[in-house]
Amino acid sequence: MLLTRNLDMFDPVDAAVGRQETREGQLEAVAGFIRECVLCPLCRNRRHAVPGEGDACARLMIVGEGPGENEDAQGRPFVGRAGELLDKILESTEFPRPSVFITNIVKCRAADAVDGRMQNRAPMAPEVAACRPYLVRQVEIIQPRVILCLGSPAGKSVIDPGFSITDQRGEWFDGPFGSRIIATFHPAFILRRGGAGSGARDLKKLVWEDMKAIKRYLD
Ligand code: SF4
Repeated sequence: MLLTRNLDMFDPVDAAVGRQETREGQLEAVAGFIRECVLCPLCRNRRHAVPGEGDACARLMIVGEGPGENEDAQGRPFVGRAGELLDKILESTEFPRPSVFITNIVKCRAADAVDGRMQNRAPMAPEVAACRPYLVRQVEIIQPRVILCLGSPAGKSVIDPGFSITDQRGEWFDGPFGSRIIATFHPAFILRRGGAGSGARDLKKLVWEDMKAIKRYLD
C-alpha cells in the first residue's frame, strides 16, 4: 500500500487538521500548508500551488499527475483543455464535478525552462515522494470509496511503482480505508493522440467504460 503515513515532519499539519471540526476545515488546513510548502524544488517556479478541490465527503476521488500551466496560473486542478475533457467525461457518466474531489500526486507544476519558455515535464520520483504525505492526508480526511488515478504516473504513485496503464487500466485494486482504486487514461493523453483515426476515440471509449464500472460499483 503506497498511501501510508510515513513522515513525522508532518506533525504540524496533523495538529492543524486536528483542530478542525469539519472535513472542509481539515482539507483547508492541509491546503494552507501546501500553499506555503517548500519541501521539494517544484516550489521554486510555481505561481500557485494546487491543493485540489471538490466535495470533502466525495465518494469518488480523482488523482492526476500534476498542475500544468493553466492550473499553475489559477491555483485550481484540471482547468485547461484536459480539464474540459475531464468535465465532459464526468458529466456523461453522471459524476458532476462538484460531487468529486480532484487533486494530483504533486501539488506544484513540474516544468523546466526550454528556450526561455517553461515546458511541462513529468514530476520526478523525489518530488512525488515529498508530496505524497499531503495526498495521504487528503485521502484520510475524505475517505472516498473509489480513488481514480488518471494516467501512468498517478497509477505508479498510488497503486504500485510497477503499474502499467496499458495493461492494468480498468483493474480494481485495494486502497486505504476499505476504498478501491482504479486507473484510466489521462485526458491530456487522449488530447495528445489527436482527432479522428488517431486512436483517441478508442481511448475515450475505454475511459468511458472505466467510468461506467466506477458508477456501477458506487451504485
Ligand atoms: S510539489 Fe508538493 S512537496 Fe513539492 S513544493 Fe509543492 S506542495 Fe511541496
